Amino acid sequence: MEYKNVLTTCIYCGCGCGLYLEVLDDRIVGVWPAKTHPVAQGKLCIKGWNAADFVYHTDRLTTPLIRKDGELVEATWDEALALVAGKLSAVKAESGPDSVGILSSAKCTNEENYLLQKLSRAVIGTNNIDHCARL
Ligand code: SF4
Repeated sequence: MEYKNVLTTCIYCGCGCGLYLEVLDDRIVGVWPAKTHPVAQGKLCIKGWNAADFVYHTDRLTTPLIRKDGELVEATWDEALALVAGKLSAVKAESGPDSVGILSSAKCTNEENYLLQKLSRAVIGTNNIDHCARL
């Protein structure tokens, strides 16, 4: 059996607490706060303590789903992105850029959130960009 602690960052909010994943034979078996991390300081909130629960959950989506004839069917990322891009373009062409709004997420990295506001403002042409932290 191989046991190791892997230092990483909690994925649940922008605070960015440092935590250790306990890994046994390449499987996550526990979560511990990083005592020396400047944000966590040895503590996690309830989301952080459960930050790894989704990894092996049977309901976890691991591939995009597209609704076809009323049923959700698995698709490739290229298919899903082409569909979303096509529909956003159609809405923008028909009703203008301010008919589109984007809600970003604390589960995205800072870099991903930056790219979403660029997509909103520079590509789509709207300031309708907000973040789940304000909901
Ligand atoms: S442990 Fe809680 S406060 Fe810290 S990053 Fe995760 S969700 Fe945010």
